[in-house]
Order: sequence, then structure tokens, then C-alpha cells
Amino acid sequence: FIIPDFKTQFSRLNNKLYTKCKPNNKGKVATYIPQLSRVNPDYWGVSSCTIDGQRHSVGDVHVPFCLQSCSKPLLYALAQNEMSAETIHQYVGQEPSGRSFNELTLDYENKPHNPMINAGAIVVSSLLKNENSLSDRFDFAHKQFQKLSGGEFVGFNNAVFLSERETADRNFALAYYMKEKKCFPEGTNLMETLDFYFQMCSIEITCESGSVMAATLANGGVCPITGDKVLNPVSVRNTLCLMASCGMYDYSGQFAFQCGIPAKSGVSGAILVVVPNVMGLCLWSPPLDNLGNSVRGIQFAKEFVNTFHFHNFDSM
Ligand code: GLU
Repeated sequence: FIIPDFKTQFSRLNNKLYTKCKPNNKGKVATYIPQLSRVNPDYWGVSSCTIDGQRHSVGDVHVPFCLQSCSKPLLYALAQNEMSAETIHQYVGQEPSGRSFNELTLDYENKPHNPMINAGAIVVSSLLKNENSLSDRFDFAHKQFQKLSGGEFVGFNNAVFLSERETADRNFALAYYMKEKKCFPEGTNLMETLDFYFQMCSIEITCESGSVMAATLANGGVCPITGDKVLNPVSVRNTLCLMASCGMYDYSGQFAFQCGIPAKSGVSGAILVVVPNVMGLCLWSPPLDNLGNSVRGIQFAKEFVNTFHFHNFDSM
């Protein structure tokens, strides 16, 4: 699938949408850790990468920011790739929770509702390569993230990691609650699991590298710029499915209604957007709305889908 006139028409329209969203200065940057509260609210970047490797970028696309909750679908996809979906879903469900991302709640089987909220991602963190040491597990995830981005920038922000850990009362509470409810595999080291979860939140990308990650998902797990087969198609299908239903916090239903494509946002103001079989996008602007989604990112995603008719049901 080659976007016709990528260089001229697609890029021009994308630039126009970018400029249209730029003056929107509603929303507030996350303040729960100092590292996020100090980020410049004016940063605004949009990168896209098609499944045949065509690229377009506009704005602050080389500035690193942390993945935060955008790591959740990636972690889930990696875990799927290592173990079967059946095994993972013995520990975590597939339903939207209808509750906030860090709510102290489990489903009627005493499992976290889905892997896109904190409880679910903490459980997935306890599963991925759990026979290995924490250092090897971090190495593995970091290398796989790098492969997803075709070798482009994937960093780690240690200050964010330390800050996350210091202020994570809710995540500790979630982990202990889930331990009580026997949500983790036997022998799970709770502190290591939480460290791994905070580390994944603290992985840094740029809009450019993030768009390649999203494009790898759009391309069924094959990185469009290296041809590397990073994920199997079933892992990708399952991941996109849960991004589509649970990826945008308590806006997931509305986002599915309005945009109709899989996406995942994080409190850093990042949104990974996947147009299956077409392209991946990474949007980044730190100010968030009341539900925790990037204000400019949401505006752009809506305008983008309307402009190019990328809603899943636009073909009706
Ligand atoms: N580090 C954040 C937490 O666990 C992630 C929040 C997010 O991006 O949704 O609370």
C-alpha cells in the first residue's frame, strides 16, 4: 500500500493539520512527578511512517520523551511473542475497565481488566522473561523496543524511573492487592516486577522513533525500515485489538467512535496511533486533558482521520 502523492499531498495536509493544532494551548502537563511537570508545554511533534517506509515529520520530532503508558501495548506485544496469548490471559483480561487507569479494581475473576491499565501492565511485567534476572529482562525489552523502532532512538530516563518509584504509592497498593488476590505467577518478586514496570514507563523515544514502532505494529510486526520480523502477526492483532478498545484511558470508547483506529496514550503527552496496513504515527504534546490524553494529540488524531478517512468503518 503506497500512499499516493506522499511527498506532496500527504505531507502538505499533515503540515496543515499540525499548524492548525499548534495554537491549542488547553490542558495541563502531568505534575505527579517533577520530571514531567518541568517539561515545556509548547513541545509539539508529529511523525508518521508508512508500512513501506515513507516518512514525514513536523515539529519537535527529535526531542526525547518517556513512553509512560505507551509502553503498555509494546510490553504486552513482546510478552505475546514470548508466550501464548492463552497463558497471558490466564492472568489478565480483555475488557475495558470503565474505570480510571490506576483504579484499585479487578474483574469478576479477580484479574486485572486488561493490559492497557496499570494493574494489567504490572501483571504483564511479572510475566515477560520472568525466569531471567531484572538486568537481563530490561536488556531484552530495551533491545526489542529498539528493533520495533528500526534501530532509531530508544533511551532511558533514570530520573523519571527513580521519581516514578518514589511516588508510586498507588502502584505499590495495586501490586499488594493483586498479590493478595493471587494475580501473579508463583515465585514473583513484587519489588522487581514494579521496578521493571517503572523502567518500562521511563524508556524514552522521540516522535521519529515512535512512528516507526507504530508502523511496525501497522505492518503486522515487520519493521518497515529494516524488514526485521520483530513480532508475530497474532501478537500484533491482539495488541491492536486491545489498543482499539482500551488504549485511550476513559476516552477509549469515544476515541473508537470518532477515530476508529488503535491508539495508546501516555501521561507524557505521547500517543502512538496505528492505521493497520497503512502507517504508524507518533504524536507528542505534553499538556493533557482531564482524562489524561494529550490535547493537541487528540485534536490532531480526529482531524487526521477525518481528512484521510482512516476510520475503520469509513469504508461502509
Ligand atoms: N507511570 C505512570 C503510572 O504508573 C504511568 C501513567 C500513564 O502514562 O498512564 O502511574
